[in-house]
Amino acid sequence: MGKRDYYDVLGVERNATDEKIKRAFRQLAKKYHPDVSKEKDAEAKFKEVNQAYEVLSDPNKRRNYDQFGHAGNDPNAFGGFGGFSQGFSGGGDFEDIFSGGFGDIFENFFGGGAKKRRGFSNQPIKGENVAARVTVTLKEQMFGKTIKLDLNVDKTCEACDGTGAKDLKKDIHTCTTCDGYGYVNIEQRSLFGVIQSQQPCPDCKGRGKVVASKCPKCKGQGHYRGKEVVEIELPKSIYENQQLRIREKGNYGLNNGPRGDIYLEITVKPNKYFKRINDNLHLDLPVSYLDALLGAEIKVPTFDGDVHLKLPANTKTNSVFSIPNHGFFKGPASTKRGDLIVNVLVAIPTKLSVEEKTKLQELKDISSFHIIDNFYEDL
Ligand SMILES: [Zn+2]
Ligand SMILES: [Zn+2]
Repeated sequence: MGKRDYYDVLGVERNATDEKIKRAFRQLAKKYHPDVSKEKDAEAKFKEVNQAYEVLSDPNKRRNYDQFGHAGNDPNAFGGFGGFSQGFSGGGDFEDIFSGGFGDIFENFFGGGAKKRRGFSNQPIKGENVAARVTVTLKEQMFGKTIKLDLNVDKTCEACDGTGAKDLKKDIHTCTTCDGYGYVNIEQRSLFGVIQSQQPCPDCKGRGKVVASKCPKCKGQGHYRGKEVVEIELPKSIYENQQLRIREKGNYGLNNGPRGDIYLEITVKPNKYFKRINDNLHLDLPVSYLDALLGAEIKVPTFDGDVHLKLPANTKTNSVFSIPNHGFFKGPASTKRGDLIVNVLVAIPTKLSVEEKTKLQELKDISSFHIIDNFYEDL
């Protein structure tokens, strides 16, 4: 389903002012209004224009659209660190989750200007967000990974194009209960007297339209619950418990509205030898006591393959060596990396052969090595 560029839909430049966008929208909305327009597919065009305007007239949505496009299926949809939300700490992200959710629905039911225009309730509504968690290895965390998420999402019914009608032309009628407005006025008695309020029309559920014969596939719902595999490009070197927001891959929206977002949390499998500390990768590396004493060129395992390290003679346990550029990436788009920090642990054998034992005994007899001469000197 190729979606047209919103700027093209409204026929404006990408840097068009709000005023220009509004003017273009008004003209096109008049031209394609289904009640007046004689054009074929006027209704679809009208919807498209509405949808484009909804996004481009909202500074936040417009910025997101400029940055991420329709579906954010570009791996750059993560937008570097800017696109990430760090848990709910900011508060702003929390709000984001529900914007386009409750907010829009509410507005769609009760929003201003509803009376002037029929079918306002057919405005696109963004789908609900989905929360998911994924576990990766330390190496996958470092280099990033394409993961496949099995999601259970509400999908737009393709048989009826989300309308819930068996026949798009014959089975959709203006609701007679609300005269197509999508809401009804009701009177309620309260402590303060009679209050008049508006409620979504019970017959058309606020849609302004009723369906005479229901679509057999979705039973008239316009959407159904279905499995979908969503591919996500996990960026390089993200942090554990960092929450990723993947735009518009969640539940499908209503009335061709955009999909909800996925909020993805990353868990990293603990590794026996390696651990991450900031941008560095740490390795506790056991080394033979003979190599530590005599000095040697040893092989160090890294996530980029073996690296050779020159161990000087008389290397003590817990000596630290830095191998530059073998740590985590400084950012998802960065080529700069931290270090691999190798912490040497001098290991002694658990078993000695008779010959080894004899040789070591000889060595001991001639050795002048004393660890500490006098423990009691400074008491
Ligand atoms: Zn109605
Ligand atoms: Zn259907």
